[in-house]
Amino acid sequence: MSNPPSPDEIQKKLGDFMRTQFGDQAGRVAVFSTQATPAGTNDPPEAKPADEEKDPLDGFHYRPRDIKAHLDRFVIGQDEAKRVLAVAICEHYQHVRHIRALAKESPEKAAAVEYAKQNVLLLGPTGVGKTYLVRHAADLLGVPFVKADATKFSETGYVGGDVEDLVRDLVKKANGDADLAACGIIYLDEIDKIAGATNIAGGRDVSGRGVQTTLLKLLEETDVAVRSPMDIQAQLQAAMEMQRGGAAKPKRDTVNTRHILFIVSGAFSGLRERIARRLGRGSLGFGASNAKSADEMTDGEVLRNATTRDFVDFGFEPEFVGRLPVRVCCEPLKAGDLYQILKSSEGSVIRQYERGFRAYGIEAGFTDDALRELAERAAGEGTGARGLFTVSERVLRPFQYELPGSGATRLVVDAETVRDPAAVLARVLAEGRENLGAHLAAEAEEFATEWSARHGLSLRFSEDARRALAVRAQREDVSVRPLCERLFKDYQFGLSLIKNNSGRAEWELPAEAVENPDRYLSDLVVRSYRDRDVAGGEGQ
Ligand code: ADP
Repeated sequence: MSNPPSPDEIQKKLGDFMRTQFGDQAGRVAVFSTQATPAGTNDPPEAKPADEEKDPLDGFHYRPRDIKAHLDRFVIGQDEAKRVLAVAICEHYQHVRHIRALAKESPEKAAAVEYAKQNVLLLGPTGVGKTYLVRHAADLLGVPFVKADATKFSETGYVGGDVEDLVRDLVKKANGDADLAACGIIYLDEIDKIAGATNIAGGRDVSGRGVQTTLLKLLEETDVAVRSPMDIQAQLQAAMEMQRGGAAKPKRDTVNTRHILFIVSGAFSGLRERIARRLGRGSLGFGASNAKSADEMTDGEVLRNATTRDFVDFGFEPEFVGRLPVRVCCEPLKAGDLYQILKSSEGSVIRQYERGFRAYGIEAGFTDDALRELAERAAGEGTGARGLFTVSERVLRPFQYELPGSGATRLVVDAETVRDPAAVLARVLAEGRENLGAHLAAEAEEFATEWSARHGLSLRFSEDARRALAVRAQREDVSVRPLCERLFKDYQFGLSLIKNNSGRAEWELPAEAVENPDRYLSDLVVRSYRDRDVAGGEGQ
């Protein structure tokens, strides 16, 4: 594929195009001039000039234990991964802060500092919190974070995606602040899928090694253009800015990846067995009577023994693995962990359900037994904590549909609810039906109060009218509020007329108005004209 045109070339071509189209007028056709483009309307988010910039890491004051404490609020278990990540993150950002400060005094000195970047290789099955850990760490630090699957990149880029787009995505996440983007976190999942074909049974993606090479450059250090060469709109914008000449503010065109932290992850299935076999042959714990056998070790304990050689055998280039010096494993989640996630993680899906029901005036609560039952079932799904979403959704969806507007105001989700949701739903609905009348009548009252405030008129429903509204809402299977909106949509206009005619500003609507709202209103209006005329006639 030939290289895409540069902004200069695009600008030249545009100039030629304008001249052929408009001849001498071209100079006056100000498509790309500042006159034609209202200031700033087409600008990408502006990066501030580097020298005015306050370093985004100036406030970096975290210690590894602070980061772990933050992660503990959301992520259950994975203690080893939390510790390792916390240390890597602190090392990395302390270093970046130091270098940036030094560079202000002496760029040469800063360039001379040697440093092995703490890029992380995170192993572990799906749904156990790998992304969740990194996302929350990035949140705490206030640095931008992007995630992508390594499988979407092809060797040459542009087919599935260009690895450099990751950096551009960071700039977008940082609202155009290239300095902040330059110390963001890029998370690449499914890295094991770009292992080369060699040594992999069945032969996987042959372009894997090519992608590794492309990624290598990014992991190491490279300048990435803020505007993609493939993004025609961005290129046009660059051409426009060039044509304007002497842009008001110097903008950073590239982001250097030196200070971007890379975290790559994958399940690496088969790797555990490979290492276990090696350990079994006695290279570790040999002769020690208390040494665990590989079978007794957790995945993390086994994978902790992974050497660069193991990853190379798996299909990675030594240089690529070499750029990922920090390695840690997230453990599979057992039912007990899943229970803890539901019970105590700040991100527990249970809170989401409780909030959802509360929005409809339903107080929902979960018993401990229910959480255990959900966790057991989720463990059976084999998708880590993602199983919790699947299982809870399956149990609760019918309740989410049926309960709002059913008269139910309370839902206790217990183990029985998880085991037999249909039976419990029927019971809750039956209980709700008993309050339903009162509940719907209350909604009617609420509607009248709001309607009155909105229109500066005073509307009430008689007791019979409230009952009639409740009956009609159930008959038509709609909620009271939209029903009232529909039935009484002309009432503001009609009652305002009456107010003009008679000065009357308060109404109590009877049941008749609910069954036949238009006729009732028109009778009222007609009567008000008649009364006015009669009163006028008497007055003469
Ligand atoms: P992966 O390991 O595949 O990256 P994620 O981190 O994306 O999995 O997990 C998916 C979701 O499951 C998270 O958004 C979070 O809600 C939940 N989750 C996963 N692991 C944990 C955990 N250890 N503690 C709390 N929640 C978790």
